[in-house]
Amino acid sequence: MMVCTSSTVAENGRNLLRENQCPSSTPPTERPTSKSKEEVNKIVEVSKAAQKSWAKTPLWKRAELLHKAAAILKEHKVPIAKCLVNEIAKPAKDAVVRSGDLVSYCAEEGVRILGEGKFLVSDSFPGNERTKYCLSSKIPLGVVLAIPPFNYPVNLAVSKIAPALIAGNSLVLKPPTQGAVAALHMVHCFHLAGFPKGLISCVTGKGSEIGDFLTMHPGVNCISFTGGDTGIAISKKAGMIPLQMELGGKDACIILEDADLDLAVISILKGGFAYSGQRCTAVKVVLVMESVADTIVEKVNAKVAKLTVGPPEDDCDITPVVTESSANFIEGLVMDAKQKGATLCQEYKREGNLIWPLLLDKVRPDMRIAWEEPFGPVVPVIRIKSVEEGIHHCNASNFGLQGCVFTKDINKAILISDAMETGTVQINSAPARGPDHFPFQGVKESGIGSQGITNSINMMTKIKSTVINLPTPSYTMG
Ligand code: NAP
Repeated sequence: MMVCTSSTVAENGRNLLRENQCPSSTPPTERPTSKSKEEVNKIVEVSKAAQKSWAKTPLWKRAELLHKAAAILKEHKVPIAKCLVNEIAKPAKDAVVRSGDLVSYCAEEGVRILGEGKFLVSDSFPGNERTKYCLSSKIPLGVVLAIPPFNYPVNLAVSKIAPALIAGNSLVLKPPTQGAVAALHMVHCFHLAGFPKGLISCVTGKGSEIGDFLTMHPGVNCISFTGGDTGIAISKKAGMIPLQMELGGKDACIILEDADLDLAVISILKGGFAYSGQRCTAVKVVLVMESVADTIVEKVNAKVAKLTVGPPEDDCDITPVVTESSANFIEGLVMDAKQKGATLCQEYKREGNLIWPLLLDKVRPDMRIAWEEPFGPVVPVIRIKSVEEGIHHCNASNFGLQGCVFTKDINKAILISDAMETGTVQINSAPARGPDHFPFQGVKESGIGSQGITNSINMMTKIKSTVINLPTPSYTMG
């Protein structure tokens, strides 16, 4: 494990990045050493102290520093993108750092929503006179622990850091082991902007080693986590603190007979295969009406054949998945479906962690891939006889992140959206997280709470009220 405070990153960050020492090269142990625990205790203590004075820093000043960090992040876009290519095999063309805009928007939105409070008078509640005035405003929670996943180690860290800071919190970041160097580089940009010492700290190391100690730490006042079912375990252990959990998904794409089929095909391609399917909002199951299924499958196959496969440095469409165990898991899902009678539209091909894109047709509910999240370039197609069958499949999932529906009939689309038990439904487009100020949430095992810039700022604050008690009116005035 490695711990970086504002000062150590500011002083050592450059060396760290130059030497490209991925902190994951530390031999893993599954239990934190007492030294690791000591370091985390120290970090949380420093973070707590830094937060006290940060909370008193005027809102406009906090916003000013965030704008500065946003500009520095944009200047560092190229080296950060390089880290993403090297660490998580993100194709260079996908590794655009949209994070700077997110930070700036967050600064502006923070000024708008945190600058306002509420004024209530008591006589609107039965039995009360006008003797109490209540002033309420939003105040920070304290120390926010941010844990992003490997697939967006920068943007999903920034989407937690910026709202936490504008709201007056301090921040401890536990980056994903794969993606830690990119995350450290990003944190360094915040330090270069001049945030006070100790306000943003970074604890690297394997989640399995240090995660429990961090997430159950009594000094942590809020956890914002994005990842897989690790989040379910964390929410059971974390105790009485606000949680923001963005977890897995099995985003369904329902295609009706009257859909613009070419639009649906492009959306399946982009939604299912971008970043080799390693996106929470990837299209993870296509539910298509039988009458148009042949056309959809044929058109998607024609486009899959044109996807380039290879290393991220060559800007290929399909790049190796993140770990060997991920590749093994994906292979297991494909073999299970094949054995149970699914049609493999392409030859199944794998070299190490590189899996060639694959469409699986005629998938049935008894196959694992109908329900499980492959997180790879593999998209199952289930042919449905009615819209109700599609909605039923979508709602029978343990997940409920996003879904999408393709039809030219807007009335039908709205009714289907209403019936789908997911945090968001996209009409005539693939599921997507952005733009980053839209609400973003999952139901069931896909998460707790809602993200999006405004919702995150609100979530990382609590309401503080001050009640002014006036003398009881004597009714003798005038
Ligand atoms: P993951 O294995 O759950 O890891 C997520 C983060 O948790 C990593 O930083 C990981 O660190 C850390 N971690 C691991 N064990 C921990 C523990 N016991 N306590 C605290 N932290 C711990 O997920 P992933 O493989 O990185 O990401 C893929 C998953 O994320 C998919 O299921 C995907 O759907 C989901 N995802 C969801 C969203 C969304 O917005 N809903 C967005 C993106 C991804 P290490 O790397 O050191 O293990």
